[in-house]
Amino acid sequence: MTQPLIAERLHDFAGPTIFSEMTALAQQAGAANLGQGFPDSDGPPELLAAAADAIGRGLNQYPPATGLPELREAIAARRTADQRLTYDPRTEVVVTAGATEAIAAALIGLCDPGDEVIVFDPLYDSYSACLAMAQVRRVPVLLEFDGTRFTFDPEAFRRAVTPRTRLVLLNTPHNPTGKVFDESELALIAEVCMAHDLVAVTDEVYEHLVYDGLRHRSLATLPGMRERTLTISSAGKTFSCTGWKVGWACGPARLVTTVRTVKQYLTFGTGTPFQAAVAHGLTRCMPWVDELRAELARRRDLLVAELRAVGITTYPCDATYFVQMDARSFGHDDGETLCRALIRDAGVAAIPSVALYDDKAAGRHLVRLAFCKEPGLLTTAARRLAAYASDASAAPREGQERTSND
Ligand code: PMP
Ligand code: GLN
Repeated sequence: MTQPLIAERLHDFAGPTIFSEMTALAQQAGAANLGQGFPDSDGPPELLAAAADAIGRGLNQYPPATGLPELREAIAARRTADQRLTYDPRTEVVVTAGATEAIAAALIGLCDPGDEVIVFDPLYDSYSACLAMAQVRRVPVLLEFDGTRFTFDPEAFRRAVTPRTRLVLLNTPHNPTGKVFDESELALIAEVCMAHDLVAVTDEVYEHLVYDGLRHRSLATLPGMRERTLTISSAGKTFSCTGWKVGWACGPARLVTTVRTVKQYLTFGTGTPFQAAVAHGLTRCMPWVDELRAELARRRDLLVAELRAVGITTYPCDATYFVQMDARSFGHDDGETLCRALIRDAGVAAIPSVALYDDKAAGRHLVRLAFCKEPGLLTTAARRLAAYASDASAAPREGQERTSND
């Protein structure tokens, strides 16, 4: 690949993301793509019709930089219905180009070079890149599997705070672990934020994709947190329209104004007709989202049952599109080598979770599978994985020999 002329602070980010890379490899190999997290079916027909209608009605010019007023009102109404939080749609809600832009604008706008941000490891890939763009140091707190669930050491979290800490960046429900941060974890994060006067930025793009009767709770609902929390979400996952890139941030005006200030120079505004459609979706299509949630839980169960039946270890998943499996079930201790072998030899694309880990040793054996795919594709992929695992247990693979010399 051509070496780009790129600033030193971005050297680690040159080249396509792991998601683009795996999707391209899957397309070349004709593999079942359980890599990049996008659904392979469309959102509610009524939502799609609302977008077409908005284009037909001439909503094709710039939106206001803060987003269409009807969308900001619909977002505020949802926050009240879902989390009993009240936001003023004029000053406390801003629409962005996906959650990705809201995250970028928050980090760039709230931090100075040399500041520190506490993140939970593994972390979504855009966090590290945005922190590098803003010349901010990321301070990871590891989520470790304790035999039951992924969780963190409270003392490690407390120790992560220094005089340079500007904010805590929290993703719940969490990609790639499928974890929903529980009451006691949220309470600890809130306590530390308040004790050190820290801002919290929460990425809640999977807020509606939580299974088994569990509930997602926004950090902003904890006592004292609304005034210091910027809550970020997106229509992409909620309505299966990841290509529309309509996201938003809600919070006190002092934080929302920061996001607005930066985003007006990043994109200014995007996707006017899609914004109109998402306003419709948030008001009218939530029953469809309830069905999506139930369907995704069934797909998770289908995939996990097929894998477990042949002895492939999977980790618990309470939410999101993703379940992780253990590369060691295939005789590999390195998920990255396994993912490359799976595309080539098994016809399945997955994401090596290590790509999202700061602590590479901790994530080395984990592989992320996206189950937001048609059941037929999930079954095909699971059977291919099962066949590959049984071959692997019959004979040691080349990849295994290589990794044992690392
Ligand atoms: N945060 C997380 C945790 C994600 O998994 C994703 C991918 N949807 C995003 C942010 C980006 O969201 P969007 O596509 O709305 O920019
Ligand atoms: N959020 C998607 C995932 O985790 C990827 C989105 C992207 O490709 N940037 O798979």
